[in-house]
Amino acid sequence: MLEPTIKPYEYSYITQQVTTLVSAYLTLNDQRMRQITLATTLERIIPLLPDQDPLAREFLQGLQALPPKRQAALDLLQTLQPLVIPFAQPTPKQLSKLFRKVKKLPQPNWAALNLHELTYLGWNDGGNQKKYLVAPWEDRLIGIQGDFAPQTVKGVCAICHTIGNVSLFTAITKRNGVTGYTRQGNYICRDSAQCNRQLTDPQRLQDFLTVVRPSKGR
Ligand SMILES: [Zn+2]
Repeated sequence: MLEPTIKPYEYSYITQQVTTLVSAYLTLNDQRMRQITLATTLERIIPLLPDQDPLAREFLQGLQALPPKRQAALDLLQTLQPLVIPFAQPTPKQLSKLFRKVKKLPQPNWAALNLHELTYLGWNDGGNQKKYLVAPWEDRLIGIQGDFAPQTVKGVCAICHTIGNVSLFTAITKRNGVTGYTRQGNYICRDSAQCNRQLTDPQRLQDFLTVVRPSKGR
């Protein structure tokens, strides 16, 4: 029986590595350079895969025989998904508990989300210019809501640290009670699914949450 052990952000990292490998294949004609790039990719990926697992072994074999085609890389990456721990999908009731102050909480479009690719959950309420985030924090989930500007600009996302289409997210954070509410503005990816695919270091998400997280008692 398969026991998933790969975290979604590790899967995002593996995806990035494999995508980079194919790009290198498509630009490098030198066979020796290709071999070196493959060796580097393997070196980075192998520590993230479960030892002795038949699926992981097949994946590595497939990677070593990978043709220089993007679709082949995507197909190969798919085969690894049963080994990825999916984001635990909260029920509508759990979601409303995370956002007690929101009267009519819009639900995420679950059908469009791949739970194997989510380190955190984020969705937009475009009509009301809001964004909702659900993320792990100290062994539980926390919900963060904020205003989300309709304008999209090119910039670095405060969560995944990648350059892309970002918008200003303004969470309302209560500081120590003396200063009252502080508005914390950060540019983050418009598309949180894309952000998750670019999020390879969970510490970056934790750092972001430290800044925007509502303090206790709110
Ligand atoms: Zn991002």
